[in-house]
Amino acid sequence: MEKQEKNYFGGKMPYTMSGEHNWEKKGGTKGACRQCGQYIKNDEDYYLVIINWADVRQDFPKEGNFIIHQKEFDTLVDVTGSESNAVYHIFSHKKPRAKNPTQVDEERVERFKGIVARRGFRIKSETKNRITFTPGFRDKSPYIFDKRFGTIEYSGRGMNGLFDGLIIKEFVSRIREELYDIPKEQGFRALDVVEKATKQVDEWMGK
Ligand SMILES: [Zn+2]
Repeated sequence: MEKQEKNYFGGKMPYTMSGEHNWEKKGGTKGACRQCGQYIKNDEDYYLVIINWADVRQDFPKEGNFIIHQKEFDTLVDVTGSESNAVYHIFSHKKPRAKNPTQVDEERVERFKGIVARRGFRIKSETKNRITFTPGFRDKSPYIFDKRFGTIEYSGRGMNGLFDGLIIKEFVSRIREELYDIPKEQGFRALDVVEKATKQVDEWMGK
């Protein structure tokens, strides 16, 4: 192979995927396998490949560290003769488009909308992949339901206090309990945390 004088490879760390949705959320170029372009699924082995910036910057200024299925990288190292050559080969090819993104779970979306109707939440907007809603007429704090991943997140800026965090957590927990049939006992209750805090302080105070 050509390009022997340069070293594009800075190191690699082996992992087994366990948070596929977190990576997929990063989207296109960052969150998928750099070689085959597909999102890496839970339990699949992959490397985080660290590039050698000094040499990569000269030839591939738009590239950076990437994730890749272990088998694909190992095979490329075998075929090209070195890890640096493998990285060169990878960067010389355009990344294919992901064909395995998580699809919207329509049945779950319907269940979520049922909760919205029963609880009197207000849907502010709906797109292909997300629903923005608020708890009610007066409370304008926005939450987002992700139609693909089934997550619920607070998306506003106004609530930053300690107590606000507890409110958000309990609210999201209670929606999740309805959505996923999670027993109440496994849900999050702000009161439990407050009681625990008081008990702990009582102990410290020698009560
Ligand atoms: Zn791959």
